[in-house]
Amino acid sequence: MIRLEVAAYRIPTDAAEADGTLAWSSTTLVLVRARGEPVDGGTSPVGLGWTYGPAATAGVVTDLLAPVVADLDPDDVPAAWQAMCARVRNAGRPGVAGLALSAADCALWDLKARRLGVPLARLLGTVRRQVPVYASGGFTSYDAERQHRQLAGWVREQGIPRVKIKIGESRGAAEARDLARMAAARATIGDAAELFVDANGGYRRKQAIRVMQAAAGLDVRWFEEPVSSDDLEGLGLVRDRVSADVAAGEYGYDLAYVHRMVRYVDCQQIDVTRCGGISEFLRAAAVAEAAGLDVSAHCAPHQHLAVAAAVPNLRHLEWFHDHVRIEGLLFAGTVSATGGSAPVNLTEPGIGLAFRDTDAERFRIR
Ligand SMILES: [Mg+2]
Repeated sequence: MIRLEVAAYRIPTDAAEADGTLAWSSTTLVLVRARGEPVDGGTSPVGLGWTYGPAATAGVVTDLLAPVVADLDPDDVPAAWQAMCARVRNAGRPGVAGLALSAADCALWDLKARRLGVPLARLLGTVRRQVPVYASGGFTSYDAERQHRQLAGWVREQGIPRVKIKIGESRGAAEARDLARMAAARATIGDAAELFVDANGGYRRKQAIRVMQAAAGLDVRWFEEPVSSDDLEGLGLVRDRVSADVAAGEYGYDLAYVHRMVRYVDCQQIDVTRCGGISEFLRAAAVAEAAGLDVSAHCAPHQHLAVAAAVPNLRHLEWFHDHVRIEGLLFAGTVSATGGSAPVNLTEPGIGLAFRDTDAERFRIR
């Protein structure tokens, strides 16, 4: 028996946030709780899994996923994954259905670990106990002072040696400001950190190459989504012409997406809250490994820690400002990335987090 329950919470940002192709003032977290039969002694652990997406995701969990796993064994996560995946065929796996599948799969893995009384990272097995992170924010909506304070906080106060800012503002229409903000970022961090940039698909192919040429003195190490993720040949073209590593993959909702993309990037991004959960994250990392690539985990930092500890070819995890803040508000047991890496839970059952229902109630929308 498996019972899936779902709730959604909308949390306002702490300042206006925007990247090259989107602006937002709040973020919605959809939380899945998974329960099985009581284990010995009558305790009934609850597995937690979440994704960041529209509240409509909750309806997919309730209407499509919960019924098809109800009679399954909670310890057979692959059987549940297969049933859920089959059920969303006509709804369309990429998008909202993929978000729901991902959150449910993560909740089932957490449930299994809690039922066994072991940390999730122990259940999966680890290759590392600290996960390297890069700090991520630097929104195009920030003024110079706010960007400076954020980057200085990460590098000088927290000792994180990799930071990322957003560029490609207004779909590439603000190239001069992009370059000025990159130069300002380098001035803030000096040589104490690597500089990463993310255009969120805001540029066209040759524009992306020109921007990197103009930024040649800034030693940019990571160029994320220089062009649309749908322009695979464009990603490959930029990759071959800039020294920064080109990365993409955050909109990968299934394994075939990753398989198509690995020939065009230097580092494959995977998001466990979108790709199909921990079950598919492990397979996606294997596909990247077969292509000779590292993977980088995208956003939702605490949802990634256990699986990031389990994947040999993981380069780093995105310590995304918005999600770090939200997870700290809504969960007890969150960790810091001081020094540039985050510790993996190896003591508490499951992911080692508890949801703060009372604190979360004011954000609840479903
Ligand atoms: Mg990105």
